[in-house]
Amino acid sequence: MKSIELSHGGGGVQMNRLIHDLFFRHFGNEILLRGEDAAVLQMEGPLALTTDGFTVAPIFFPGGNIGKLAIAGTVNDLAMMGAQPQYLACSFIIEEGFPHAELEQIVRSMADELAVSGARIVCGDTKVVPRGAADGLFITTSGVGSIKAPGISAGAIRPGDAILVSRDVGCHGACILMARDGLQLHSGLESDCATLWPLVQALLAEGIVPHALRDATRGGLSAVLNEWALASQVGLALSEAAVPVSDPVRGLCELYGFEPFDLANEGTLVMALPAELAPAAEAVLQRFNGQAACIGEAVAAHPGKVVLTSAWGSRRYLELPQGELLPRIC
Ligand code: MG
Repeated sequence: MKSIELSHGGGGVQMNRLIHDLFFRHFGNEILLRGEDAAVLQMEGPLALTTDGFTVAPIFFPGGNIGKLAIAGTVNDLAMMGAQPQYLACSFIIEEGFPHAELEQIVRSMADELAVSGARIVCGDTKVVPRGAADGLFITTSGVGSIKAPGISAGAIRPGDAILVSRDVGCHGACILMARDGLQLHSGLESDCATLWPLVQALLAEGIVPHALRDATRGGLSAVLNEWALASQVGLALSEAAVPVSDPVRGLCELYGFEPFDLANEGTLVMALPAELAPAAEAVLQRFNGQAACIGEAVAAHPGKVVLTSAWGSRRYLELPQGELLPRIC
């Protein structure tokens, strides 16, 4: 079986072959194929720029792999600022001995995921490190996009805003936990890993501009809501029963003593917007996932705090997750 050798990162013949036969073949576009030292971009107006390193273990998991995640994650961070994802830079750090066929499978799924938003990889870098110096494969992606709806911000939430979530929460975290522990649940549980730009685009097309938008990645729903409450100096009042959680995620959380709201998501967004826009926004989200729901509202009381009301009427604070729940989740 062919595998990646140190020479594939050496700047010579083998590296050139890898770049042309693998990366250019799957990512090819006119800017990338120019093969210059830097991509030259023509862009106008306000831009959003983001970067993210991906170290997920295991590299392949139900519902995705490190490559799909590296595209969706960076594209989503742009989309969450109301920016249309356009250009990505991509850096691979590959451990010597990594199977070529697996790398190709990863690159293929990156190309598939790019097609969802229409973003393109326009520059990149490949490094190969000796065995033991990295765990298989790390990918860093940076992305730039033009802002279609300015003003979306964690600090823009006002009392009275409705809080919506685009689907059931905790799937990615639960799925990685399961994969890592070798648990075989008959649940069909998959990561939610997905590109969210089509969803944002559909909202903007209906004239719906949220006050705040965020993908609930590390730290899950709990982290997003706590950061929002602090940044906007509002209270957030949530109905626990309104937050969609699938049975497999709930079951796994009970087994491990985790809070589903703390688990990472990789294709699930949270949105705050004026209450009068909430029904229309929920209808758009429902077109993409039937689990989308309105889960609460922003209030003037308890600024900086998130309060969860249970189905029985008891109230508790939803805190920022403590410590490291699950290392190398993304
Ligand atoms: Mg994000």
